[in-house]
Amino acid sequence: MTEMQTILAIDDKKENLDVLLDILEDFDVIPVTSGQMALDVLAKEEISLILLDIVMPKMDGFEVCSIVKTKTKTKDIPIIFITAKTDEESIAKAYQAGANDYVSKPLKKLEVIERVKTQLRLKKTIADLDYLASRDSMTGAFNRRKFFELSKPIFEKSENNFFLIMIDIDHFKKINDSYGHDAGDIVIKLVANTISNLLPDNAIFARIGGEEFVCVCIEEVKQKIMDLFESIKYKIEILCADYNGYTIRFTVSCGISQKNKDDKSLDELLKRSDIALYEAKNSGRNRVIFR
Ligand code: GH3
Ligand code: MG
Ligand code: MG
Repeated sequence: MTEMQTILAIDDKKENLDVLLDILEDFDVIPVTSGQMALDVLAKEEISLILLDIVMPKMDGFEVCSIVKTKTKTKDIPIIFITAKTDEESIAKAYQAGANDYVSKPLKKLEVIERVKTQLRLKKTIADLDYLASRDSMTGAFNRRKFFELSKPIFEKSENNFFLIMIDIDHFKKINDSYGHDAGDIVIKLVANTISNLLPDNAIFARIGGEEFVCVCIEEVKQKIMDLFESIKYKIEILCADYNGYTIRFTVSCGISQKNKDDKSLDELLKRSDIALYEAKNSGRNRVIFR
């Protein structure tokens, strides 16, 4: 959850940037002298805060700000305007353009530092809250809400390279009944960890029920998905959890579906994966079925 916080400072005058760099000597700052350079840096780097001069040739601060605020990657980066104009109208215009705060020239060192710190702190708090609101606290996997939020746009822009996989621990109730709820929790965590470690980086993995997981994978070759989940199933089959002197063994069943041109929504894949999972359960469990 902790990340390096980098500030992007934009001012067309080099001497102004030098003043800023001097004030922010204890921070990690990338200085640039034009709006276009700023947009190039923003496309490549993870930036936590933008300090933005208003009056610049070609692209002024308002324009840079409005572009930053429309891009998914950058829209949540706080922006502090640096302005020589402190009349009511200019300040209102800065906030309307999407500013989070402003500092006026000539810059006052301690004020700039405190305003910067405040925005960085807020940014981090929001990021931490967003993390907590997106994750299942037991396993660290995404929760149901975040799963749909992330998967829907991918579904829209994908074709038959979109796979949805449902995974359910077999006879899990028996584990709870035989060894207790804490043992069950250990098994859930172990299964979640194992799956998430074996999935490719671009997969979306979520816990959507007590001992039920779902993932979305993008893959051109269907057989690779089948092989991947066969190997996940096998890795789980050979795992064991040590609990209070007991060795607990467990297995999972997987239901897989693939997007086709008739699928209008994610729900249709969820239904097919659910049918496949049901078949996996009915045909003996510890297996992977495609529908
Ligand atoms: P099947 O092979 O058909 O999937 O059978 P099952 O026993 O795994 O499935 P069932 O849905 O009957 O039981 C799931 C159980 O999981 C019921 C519920 O009490 C338990 N459970 C749900 N959430 C948790 C949890 O967070 N921790 C633990 N320990 N148990 C949970
Ligand atoms: Mg189950
Ligand atoms: Mg279940």
